[in-house]
Amino acid sequence: MVCCNCQKEIVPESKFCYHCGARQPETAGAGAAPQQPPAKKRLLRSVKDKKIAGVCAGLADYFDLDATLIRVVWLLAVLLGGTGLLAYLVCWIVIPAAPAVPERAPAC
Ligand SMILES: [Zn+2]
Repeated sequence: MVCCNCQKEIVPESKFCYHCGARQPETAGAGAAPQQPPAKKRLLRSVKDKKIAGVCAGLADYFDLDATLIRVVWLLAVLLGGTGLLAYLVCWIVIPAAPAVPERAPAC
């Protein structure tokens, strides 16, 4: 695992970092699963990297892709098929906007 303070590699399950002494976030107790699964990723419209409603940037965030790539594909869908525009409007309505500040605060 990596220290949440100095980002240096430390022994897994350590309570304290031996590089900087920072207390590490609690991992699950003895006997339980060693590490909790990461928080479920939510599909949200991006508010910081948006062109129209942030749908493309939000999808790019969700799928770990380049927002520009999504925009190009979406634009092609609009120009070629015409269904892209409807899909965009549906996503705009259905996908909630991401909060201005990140939802998950750093552990420490
Ligand atoms: Zn440290």
